[in-house]
Amino acid sequence: MTAADDCLFCKIVAGEIPAEVVHVTESAVAFRDINAQAPTHVLVVPRDHYANAVELAEGDPAVTAELVRVAAAVATAEGHDDYRLVFNTGPGVGQTVFHTHLHLLAGRPMTWPPG
Ligand code: 5GP
Ligand code: ZN
Repeated sequence: MTAADDCLFCKIVAGEIPAEVVHVTESAVAFRDINAQAPTHVLVVPRDHYANAVELAEGDPAVTAELVRVAAAVATAEGHDDYRLVFNTGPGVGQTVFHTHLHLLAGRPMTWPPG
């Protein structure tokens, strides 16, 4: 397993910082966003550190797919047929934590395009 120094989500994966974990697999962890933007707002992260979705896709395509499967499982478990999956990639579009995370948002109407 690879972790990065001073990475918030590596610390959550390691259990060093508390989070409300809702689903775990061998390669991924899903936990509630601390600043939820929808009734269900869960972050799905790989256990290993990658800075963004592209680095993960290039380094570990199987785990990239696993994040999507976990998000779908959480959505189903929380009763949502419809949901939005988001990878913010780069600070210019709002990425603030540089450990790959897939946002699962569900439980309210959503507009398109996003802000
Ligand atoms: P980004 O803006 O990088 O796409 O998403 C980072 C997300 O992490 C934000 O939605 C933010 O609310 C969430 N977040 C930041 N710090 C923490 C924390 O300590 N715990 C949890 N559970 N979520 C966090
Ligand atoms: Zn990390």
